[in-house]
Amino acid sequence: MSLIFLPPPLQQINSEITRNAGVDLYVLRLDLMHPWVNGNKWFKLKYNLLEAKEKDFTTLLTFGGGYSNHIYATAAAGNLFGFRTIGVIRGEERLPLNPTLSFAVQQGMQLVYLNREMYRQRNTPALQEYLQQRFGEVFIIPEGGSNLNGVRGCTEIVSNAMLTAGYAYAFDHICVACGTATTLAGIALSLHEGQRAIAFPVLKNGAFLAQEIETFLTNYLASGSPAPSNWELMCDYHFGGYAKVNDELLLFSQQFTQQHGVPLDYVYTAKMFYGVMDLLQQGFFCKGDRLLLVHTGGLQGNVGMEERLQRFSKI
Ligand SMILES: *Cc1c(COP(=O)(O)O)cnc(C)c1O
Repeated sequence: MSLIFLPPPLQQINSEITRNAGVDLYVLRLDLMHPWVNGNKWFKLKYNLLEAKEKDFTTLLTFGGGYSNHIYATAAAGNLFGFRTIGVIRGEERLPLNPTLSFAVQQGMQLVYLNREMYRQRNTPALQEYLQQRFGEVFIIPEGGSNLNGVRGCTEIVSNAMLTAGYAYAFDHICVACGTATTLAGIALSLHEGQRAIAFPVLKNGAFLAQEIETFLTNYLASGSPAPSNWELMCDYHFGGYAKVNDELLLFSQQFTQQHGVPLDYVYTAKMFYGVMDLLQQGFFCKGDRLLLVHTGGLQGNVGMEERLQRFSKI
């Protein structure tokens, strides 16, 4: 299953900010593993697809908003690995389809729309039963791939970096953008002593995620094993909330891409990279620290985002 994917390259970033802070900073380019099934979404799907295959399911069903990276990745991964896919989309159908959803359809995904109220019930047995009755035997993956299979896949993200960099190379801080915190949980579970994970929630009031992370960690570990406390949340870099941007973030993102050749998505990675650069300038890290920034992909979403921004003539 992994043969289709390129090992993610590690790219060093040298800038005035990193030099002044005296740190080594590397980006783990999960965005370059595959043209479509990229980023953390592949890691969250991997063990879900393996379980579906093992249990002889031929159809995957999952949930997402109209610009969802997870919908995009599930459609492409389903197509690659021979599953039918059904995408349950939040809200009303809008035609013409946006670039994310038209890609999903091209990959063979069947789209179904649920109004917001019904969509909110997506994790309840009642709604899942309704979907099973309507579509037959389907393997249901939660929105964002956010289950323990997803956590398991994400335990492999940093070990991939270690392979690329050679085992001797140990990073002190692993930084990642955070939506549901599934990715952060997997990373925290995979770290060695002395390493820390720093998560940057892209939602407003992200502090509530601490409880979700605890739940992921304790449910993942065999009962009795203590959950690692090697992670922290940086809640001040959400820029107003999910998929909200301002000119400062857009400018930062464009300049970073120009200077370092690393494209960033506006919903997730731009906010995390901005946060890390800001913390570096504030002296948050120590001289000699080695930082790994996980580029979780999501670049497909920029197409839709840029279209929307242009409509408001922001960029
Ligand atoms: C989904 C996504 C995230 C958030 O992952 P979680 O596991 O939900 O925290 C981060 N970055 C990108 C690009 C994503 O698509």
